[in-house]
Amino acid sequence: MEAIILIGAPGSGKGTTAEGITAATGYIHVATGDMLREAVAGGSAVGRAAESHMKRGALVPDEVIIQLVEERLAGGSPDGCYMFDGFPRTLRQAELLDGSLAKRNGVLDNVFYLDASRELVISRLTGRRTCRECGTNFHVVNIPPKKEGICDLCGGELYIRPDDKEDTIVKRLEVFHRQTGGLISYYEAKGVLFTVDASQAKEEIIAEVVALMRAR
Ligand code: AMP
Repeated sequence: MEAIILIGAPGSGKGTTAEGITAATGYIHVATGDMLREAVAGGSAVGRAAESHMKRGALVPDEVIIQLVEERLAGGSPDGCYMFDGFPRTLRQAELLDGSLAKRNGVLDNVFYLDASRELVISRLTGRRTCRECGTNFHVVNIPPKKEGICDLCGGELYIRPDDKEDTIVKRLEVFHRQTGGLISYYEAKGVLFTVDASQAKEEIIAEVVALMRAR
């Protein structure tokens, strides 16, 4: 098993970058935020445990996340190449992922930190519109859908995620710096961290990340 990780503040473009990487490399995309939103929509036990934390812009407890990821890996291919998006978000999750990879003779190849300014992520998140059906993201200015309120891909309804309201955004950014920021030095010390300028166009970000992956 091989793995890469995308780290970045909410709105830094992790999801869009991940889609581009999957298309270029076939890596299996594991996005804990998407998995949690599906669990909330489906009303499962995990969804019920996660919902109030997500609405507040707080992190879901480590135990819930670890169980979710372990189940995903246990049900997946043991030789697969995985791309984690939005996971790990705490030092504890990072340490548990190390253990989980070691148990499967897995290797953590690269960690990409999408570095974005506060102004950039706030403008991206306040304009973000997400498809209720397939989860694709649009932006009212940067990536407008062809027909307002409708997903170009599947025709689903576009909505504002409950955690994309302005005061929740501020809280999520604060949570990122306080709880996830420490992972940058954790992975730097392991010699696997690459910092990518997230203000570039998405095509440039994807090309840079894919080139770095292939160079290893
Ligand atoms: P995202 O789509 O990655 O921005 O995640 C949306 C929300 O899901 C976050 O604000 C958290 O409440 C929760 N979440 C997603 N991934 C994690 C994680 N690895 N640890 C804790 N909470 C998470």
